[in-house]
Amino acid sequence: MIRAKKHFGQNFLKDRIVLEKIIQAISKDTKFIVEIGPGLGDLTQELLKISRVKAIEIDEDLIPFLRQKFKEQLASANLTLLNADASKLFEQGLDENQYFLVANLPYYVASNLILSALKDKKCLGLIVMVQKEVALKFCAKAGDSDFSALGVLSSLICEKEFLFEVPAHCFEPAPKVTSAVMMLKKECEFEEICDIKSFEKFLRASFKAPRKTLLSNLKAYKTELLELFKALNLKENIRPHELCAKSYLKLFQNLKDSL
Ligand code: SAM
Repeated sequence: MIRAKKHFGQNFLKDRIVLEKIIQAISKDTKFIVEIGPGLGDLTQELLKISRVKAIEIDEDLIPFLRQKFKEQLASANLTLLNADASKLFEQGLDENQYFLVANLPYYVASNLILSALKDKKCLGLIVMVQKEVALKFCAKAGDSDFSALGVLSSLICEKEFLFEVPAHCFEPAPKVTSAVMMLKKECEFEEICDIKSFEKFLRASFKAPRKTLLSNLKAYKTELLELFKALNLKENIRPHELCAKSYLKLFQNLKDSL
């Protein structure tokens, strides 16, 4: 018997209807899917009905089980199985071919994996299950109270959609939180727009104290900002969540020599 490991974020999705809804959300012309964390392979099995799949699993104890379960698909190369830590693999890229990411992500590392996928030029987009609050953050729009750096980054390069909630009882073992499935479809790459490392640093400073004003979070640049606010027709007491992604980019581009 395989026991779920907490430290790998193993909550296996058992609900057939949710599995089917995830599959329905995937575009019909998808040719190659990368799945992070196949676990016991329930989602993998459904994905294989619509596309070629590369599955990356960190837990070596699950590999023999998956090799046995997907013997035929592995033999026919419809499935490639890799025992690796996806976070580390992103340093070299998850694959040399363009791919769509589909996953029920481990909660402990979900946001970082999504950001890495957005930065990976081979990634066309993703449909992932994450903790509901994380999905809300990525899908938030300017003005929403949970619009944060994650929302700014995804807004800049993606079309985004919060698809549906998934209650805890759909998993084995049941997590303590509600989950949700979201879709991010890439429309361009960060490198076409900005130097992503510096921009992320700028966003961290902008959202340092989310309830304070943006001006107070970026007080080191007060003089320049006040001029920019005037030019962009922004009120001086604007709060970080109220500014749209494009305006963040404009501020960054104008300030970047002083940052
Ligand atoms: N896909 C399965 C499902 O839907 O039932 C399992 C999902 S479970 C929430 C997350 C899976 O990701 C686990 O199998 C876990 O071992 C794996 N995992 C955790 N961290 C990982 C990492 N850094 N790289 C690759 N797989 C990881």
